[in-house]
This record gives sequence, structure tokens and C-alpha cells, in this order.
Amino acid sequence: MRRSDLLRYVRETDPGRLAGLWKCADQAARRTVGSPVHLRGLIEIGNHCVGTCLYCGLRAPRRGVTRYRMQTREIVAAAHEAARCGFGSVVLQAGESPSIEPQWLANVIERITSETKLAVTLSLGERDSAALALWRERGASRYLLRFETSDAELYRALHPGTQRTLRTRLDKLEELRALGYEIGTGMLIGLPGQTVDTLVEDLLLLRSLDPDMIGIGPWVPHPDTPLGARPTARTSALEDQVPRTYPMVWTALALTRLLCPEANIPRTTALDSITPVDAREQGLRCGTNVIMPNMTPAKYRLQYDIYPGKSNGYKSIRGLKETIAQELQAVERPPGQGAGNRLRRVQASEHFATGRHAPAG
Ligand code: SAH
Repeated sequence: MRRSDLLRYVRETDPGRLAGLWKCADQAARRTVGSPVHLRGLIEIGNHCVGTCLYCGLRAPRRGVTRYRMQTREIVAAAHEAARCGFGSVVLQAGESPSIEPQWLANVIERITSETKLAVTLSLGERDSAALALWRERGASRYLLRFETSDAELYRALHPGTQRTLRTRLDKLEELRALGYEIGTGMLIGLPGQTVDTLVEDLLLLRSLDPDMIGIGPWVPHPDTPLGARPTARTSALEDQVPRTYPMVWTALALTRLLCPEANIPRTTALDSITPVDAREQGLRCGTNVIMPNMTPAKYRLQYDIYPGKSNGYKSIRGLKETIAQELQAVERPPGQGAGNRLRRVQASEHFATGRHAPAG
């Protein structure tokens, strides 16, 4: 797909043509990664954070949020619950913080991988090389780190007062890959200042990174963050501003599936949280093949306040299992079996034929 095709789809408003794109991506997913939907249990292990991300409710300068870190036994218990639900992996996510001590987490990872068959994915921000190597050695096999936006200037504006740049983020992703992690990345949809051209660049960056997992969700304004508190007079006037609507996210997911046919792509929690309940099924019909039920213990869920209206997970294990079973039945897809690693089906020659791995620019 060429840049001009991507731009056309990103700008598309005709309901029939959009439905055609989503369907095409759904069919592509079934052909490449197959029809199973992998289930990953999300465990939000702590909300301390050193970051200043202007969009995120966990940002360090924010007061009025009770900070916590889960105990080892709580994390291991949540992982066992995920295993009992038949999930293939768990994602341990937290703010970026030294409160997630390398040795402590290494022991948690080892307990999960020795006591269950779960694959362990980490999502802990930009940690130093020694910690990342230790966790890999002790059994973590995947790492999620979104690049958030491919626009270097916007990236810098969103992470003020830090050394963070788009470059450091991309370098960290390469470092994770070199350590042998499956890597996951992605971007936010509808960030103030994200234009349709930025979104096309985001998509092309995904294609050139060829990640194993791709997370894409809408920016959800949080009133206690600088970005959410100040309605965006300047940028909302931007003619080419990408809207943070669920159909826009479906379109981004569909184009991502066509550009990265082998990736594992979840219907993210943030997407669910802005989609009316009766339209959520469609989020599994636009190229996605993963869902990430929240397994965080109830007492911590509200404190992991990245954005408002976050789906609060299940009330009982039985209820969760029933909801998932019904949802998968409605879209006629079976639950994934096993850890759900990235499949590599496309031959190298085809990669080149489709322009993947082509040098940037
Ligand atoms: N601290 C880790 C992981 C937790 S944040 C990290 O930074 O990678 C996980 C993701 O939540 C981020 O990558 C970001 O894309 C998303 N996020 C943060 N604030 C958000 C908001 N207001 N709306 C939607 N998604 C948000």
C-alpha cells in the first residue's frame, strides 16, 4: 500500500468504503494469524511513575492519586487466575519507576513462568539495559513500549522536562529486540496535533519496525493532566487533526493489519472504553486478534487511573469467562491456544515484494 492510499483511507468518510476496509482487514487477519483470538491477562502491578507524559494520569507531577505497588503474592495469584481462565499470557504493566526493583521483579517473573505455562509480557517504560537483560534472562519474553507518535516534535512536546525523545524510544525498542524480546509498540489516535499526515507516518513507521505486537488506542482526555485539562484551542482548530473516535481507531487498526500482516494486534482497553457496548464486537472485526482482560485486583483498579472511564474488568471469574465466550461466539472465533507467539509465515522474498523492510524514505 502506498502513502497516497493510506492517506485516502485515513481521510475516508464514506461508511460503505470504510466498512469494506475493515472487512478486508478482518479477512487478512484470519488468513495470516488465523481466526483464534488470544487472551492476555493485564495485571497493573504499580502506578508510581517518574514520567511527565502530558496525557497520562499516572504522571509524576500529579497529586491526588494514591500510589501502590502490588505484592508478589498478589501478582502471582492474579497470574494463576489468568491461567485458570485459559489465557496464554499475562502482561505486567506499571508506571516507569524504580519502585519496580529489577531483582524483585525477576523473582516474580520466575515464579509465574515456573508455576504456570503463561508467557510473561512486560510494559514498564524505558528501563535500563541491565534490568531489561535480567528480566529476559529470568523468563520474560515480550515487552510493550509504544512510540506514541512518529512526529519527533510532538513527541518532545508531550514529554517535557525529560531527556526523552522519539529517538531514545526507538533505540530502546531495538535494544529490547536485540535482547530477544518479542517487541510491541504503537501509537495514540487523536492526540492534539496528530494530523492525518502524522497518522500515515505512524503507520509507515509501524511497517518499517515490523513489531511482533502492535497496540493502538484513542487518546482519552484525563482532566487531571495538562493535555486533558486544557481543551486544545490551538490544535482542535487544525484542519487535518485526527479525531479520537472509535471508527477512526478501527480504520487505523485495519490499515495496520494490512501493513503488518503477522503482528498480534489487540483490541485495546482504551478503544473499548470509548466504544458503545453494542459496537464493541466490531473492534474484533477490523484486523485485531487479541483481547486483554484486566486481571488487576479490584482494590487497585481505580488507582491505575491512566485515563477516565477505563473498563473496570470483571466482577467474578465466572462472569469474565462468560463474557469472553459470548463475545468470541458472536464473532465466530475460537479462543487462542497456548502462548500465542508471533507467527512467521510470510517468506522473506514476499517481504521484499510487499515493500516491508524497505529502507526508510
Ligand atoms: N509506563 C509504561 C506503561 C504504562 S502506560 C509506558 O509508558 O510504556 C501504557 C500506555 O497507556 C501508554 O503507552 C499510552 O499510550 C497509554 N496512555 C497513557 N495515557 C493515556 C490516555 N490519556 N489515553 C489513552 N491512552 C493513554
